[in-house]
Amino acid sequence: MTGGRLTEAELVSAWDHALDRPAAHRPLVLLGRPDAERLPVGAVAALLLRTAGDWTGGRVETIMDCPACPERLEVGFTVAELLAAAPSPPTGTFTIDWRGHRLTLRLPTPADLAEAARAGDPAAAERRLLQSCLVAAEPPVAEPADLLPAVSAAMAERDPLGVVAVALTCPACGTETEALLDLPAWAWQAADARVRRLLGEVHRLARAYGWSEAEVLGLGPHRRAAYLEQVP
Ligand SMILES: [Zn+2]
Repeated sequence: MTGGRLTEAELVSAWDHALDRPAAHRPLVLLGRPDAERLPVGAVAALLLRTAGDWTGGRVETIMDCPACPERLEVGFTVAELLAAAPSPPTGTFTIDWRGHRLTLRLPTPADLAEAARAGDPAAAERRLLQSCLVAAEPPVAEPADLLPAVSAAMAERDPLGVVAVALTCPACGTETEALLDLPAWAWQAADARVRRLLGEVHRLARAYGWSEAEVLGLGPHRRAAYLEQVP
């Protein structure tokens, strides 16, 4: 691994291993750092934006379904504008005051989300996530579920890329809706497209010159492009 940024050969290998993992875990493999699972969700999103942005010309483009009609809505941002809107989230704990209680909290991580998802329904998952991230409450809170709105707001403020909501207006039927932008899923799709293109290039050059996959990927993008121009 080279400082967290994968080489093309490492990307192909990471993609291959990631396909054996659950879908939610796959994007983390692209970061090439073992602590990714324990970073705040928005910090992971920022790293994925930088990594996958290199493969998409710095654009985040995705399609969402209109909830009211068959129209498909195109959503587009630049990586730069998404990163500019998000300061680095705290990796340790932080405190907020809530109705006379002092709450010590930490931001959710991908590991927390994965554990919460095993709780079953969304409400149970939300309670499970709160349990993980509420480090202390002084004095103790009788009904922790009451904290959810205040805690969610405090987390969103400190980790804006943790949950990215996009306001959309359907051009066909005028319905206004709010959709969540799934940055890890976008990053994985970008990696998948990139790897499949690389493997297509390996296939063409291997057939033309008899080179191995490692040799083709080892050429680097410019020499590979020059050889590809020679191949009919
Ligand atoms: Zn519509």
